[in-house]
Amino acid sequence: MAEAKDVYTFSDLKDWAVATAGLDHPAKLSVIGDPIVHSRSPQMHNPALRAAGIDAEYVRVHLSPEELVDGLGAMKSSGFIGTNVTIPHKGGVFDAVDEMTEVARRIGAVNTVAIDGDQLIGHNTDAPGLKRAIREEFSMDLTDLRIMIIGAGGGAGKAAAVQCAMDHCDRLVLVNRTIAKAEALEAELEELFVDPDRLEGPADRLVSIPWEEKAMERELGQVDLIINATSVGMKRTDAEVVPQRLIEPHHLVYDMIYAPPRTRLINDAEAAGAKAANGLSMLLWQGVLAFEFWFNREAPVDAMRQGLNESLA
Ligand code: NAP
Repeated sequence: MAEAKDVYTFSDLKDWAVATAGLDHPAKLSVIGDPIVHSRSPQMHNPALRAAGIDAEYVRVHLSPEELVDGLGAMKSSGFIGTNVTIPHKGGVFDAVDEMTEVARRIGAVNTVAIDGDQLIGHNTDAPGLKRAIREEFSMDLTDLRIMIIGAGGGAGKAAAVQCAMDHCDRLVLVNRTIAKAEALEAELEELFVDPDRLEGPADRLVSIPWEEKAMERELGQVDLIINATSVGMKRTDAEVVPQRLIEPHHLVYDMIYAPPRTRLINDAEAAGAKAANGLSMLLWQGVLAFEFWFNREAPVDAMRQGLNESLA
């Protein structure tokens, strides 16, 4: 009988029942990516499946971009319930699904697929996952906040910006090193900021600026929540995301990075008297919402949180 593997491949998908015969439960859920070996999603989802009494196993599947469409086809024929999607496939899967949620359509990326017969239904749980994380960490809703997103030109930054805009946050400041990307996103989101009941126009509530100290200084007085959606801070030698002198005690600071758990931004924010949290809660809640998308029932959040914490310990 085939041994259980840390990572399955495209060729395993061609004869899935044989390739996964060594597992205790039928492998019907996965995370796909390239590379994929680092993914902690199995350690979060398998405890949830056990806690919920569902006879299915969640595994990692490595697919190259060339294998993506045929890989999804093989998942359909092998009776998969769904899959999560990570780098670099969120855009490719967006093109491959038959239907999708509004949030996925607006972001242009899919991180969760439910398989319904021969239909692939796409969703993006990074965005609502961030919303739930902010509520958990700071007891605040995006709707009531003036928000600055640094790294708005990347995939995670766009997901955050779309959720903030769909929730009609008070104000949204898009910051990006390559300003043209922030401006393009501003143009896409403008329609969500047009509110006939407000006196000010969308330009006052939706702004894009370059990742520069002076430009950020002008905006930070009118910002409550600062979100880092760049990878800056993963390395000890990385530059400051926000100059420390600009962080004030009233700011809430959310760093999407969770490894390392304490970044320079988090240290700087706390030293300035601000509340700060890392991206672990977003990782948890995007997983919880994926589970709920697949099974249409409440997820066992405590089991998922414990599994995730153990995987990081
Ligand atoms: P991405 O698509 O590569 O986006 C990178 C963004 O960061 C771009 O806006 C880019 O600006 C900016 N950036 C990168 N390096 C920079 C630098 N040295 N200086 C200034 N700006 C820089 O990556 P992503 O997938 O969106 O992920 C971004 C971060 O979010 C990563 O740290 C990732 O681990 C984290 N994340 C966390 C979760 C979670 O659940 N907690 C989920 C998703 C992502 P340009 O446009 O100018 O290149």
